[in-house]
Amino acid sequence: MTVIVTPKAAPKAVIKDASMLKQKEMMAAHYERLTSAPETGEKVFSTFVPGNLNELIMCFGLLNNLPEVNAIQSGLRRQSGAYVLEAEKIGHSEDVCTYVKSDVGMMAKGNIGPNGKKLPNPDVLLLSYTGCFTFMKWFELLREQYKCETIMLHTPYLGDGKITPNMIDYMVKQLKDEVIPTLERISGVKFDIDRLRENLKKSVKAEDDLVHVLRSARNRPSPIDAYFGGIYYIGPIFGAFRGTDDAIDYYRFLRDEVDDRVAKGQGPVTPDGDMGKEKYRLVVEGPPNYTNFRQFWKMFYDEGAVVVASSYSKVGGVYDFGFRHDPDKPLESLAEYCLGCYTNRSLPMRIDLLANYLEDYQADGLLINSIKSCNSFSAGQLLIMREVEKRSGKPAAFIESDLVDPRYFSAANIKNRLESYFQMIEQKRAGARAAA
Ligand code: SF4
Repeated sequence: MTVIVTPKAAPKAVIKDASMLKQKEMMAAHYERLTSAPETGEKVFSTFVPGNLNELIMCFGLLNNLPEVNAIQSGLRRQSGAYVLEAEKIGHSEDVCTYVKSDVGMMAKGNIGPNGKKLPNPDVLLLSYTGCFTFMKWFELLREQYKCETIMLHTPYLGDGKITPNMIDYMVKQLKDEVIPTLERISGVKFDIDRLRENLKKSVKAEDDLVHVLRSARNRPSPIDAYFGGIYYIGPIFGAFRGTDDAIDYYRFLRDEVDDRVAKGQGPVTPDGDMGKEKYRLVVEGPPNYTNFRQFWKMFYDEGAVVVASSYSKVGGVYDFGFRHDPDKPLESLAEYCLGCYTNRSLPMRIDLLANYLEDYQADGLLINSIKSCNSFSAGQLLIMREVEKRSGKPAAFIESDLVDPRYFSAANIKNRLESYFQMIEQKRAGARAAA
């Protein structure tokens, strides 16, 4: 008897440009370093992406572990669903931020990192509190689990929409009186402000190149997708690499790659290769969904929609309105950096930023991805939407999903809403042509 075996179709390979591959290697090397810490003796601190003080921490030879990034990695690898359920079994409510539940569930199941090795226990938890209350509750849970030292740097909320000298003084005082002395004690390394200045000088170079890359989306076609592609671009600078030579090399490389795409008139690279004709230019507010990241992105590029600016790609620092770390005012500029993080900005500031992007990037409209379990982004988004629509005269739309909980990604619903939104943009264009 002859058995004919029909081979299963191999999953389609994901296409990545050279900078994405380089970024992947950097992240993998960092996780190797992190999971080897128990053998190498390197001390580890946990902190969050918004307000992370990487340049300062490196002065003490500490190694950076970011719980949100671990949750994102679990989401992309489709492991977060089981972690979220595990956390709910332990008693965490359905409404809790799913980054937290993914992290808690991961710890309960052995704390295995994305490279398949156990993540080390932190020696210190450093919370730069930048507007999201969940950060504080999350670290309370970690403190209970690890019984390690905890430092809190309080960042005043920008309720009045501006940074005042008092705010900077207040933060510098905390850095001098609490953060730095505690880090000296834990690491056994004396603080050297010149080393901090050197690290900050490196940050500035990478920040300049990142801004250049993000601004390239002003071109038509845009050579980048500033939301889905933007996730790759922000990884090194919002994570463990700001203030390093590796970050300088990466952003220079990325900048050259993007300039080359502009010179050739090319659009972004998607997981299925070069994007076809650019039909819609969008500004997006809110984090993406990670459990169905590729499927979500495909709903955009299949329709010729490119994201030209997003608030999420500013979550670890807003650089495109001129802020840079300043080696001449090292502690003051760390304070200013924390104060300006997107999560620390008031609703009117967020509205200004998004309305400005619509204008600056000549976008067709605003899309809000409202994340079920992220109060920090989601609160006030309907108001943001109405206000930006009113100011810009451009159509806005609202979709809902979640960060890393696969139960809240409804592909059919999102696709329907996106298709209706693109039709709405077409109608607006037709109306404008008829009126001209
Ligand atoms: S900003 Fe949103 S996603 Fe991040 S910790 Fe706060 S609630 Fe969670």
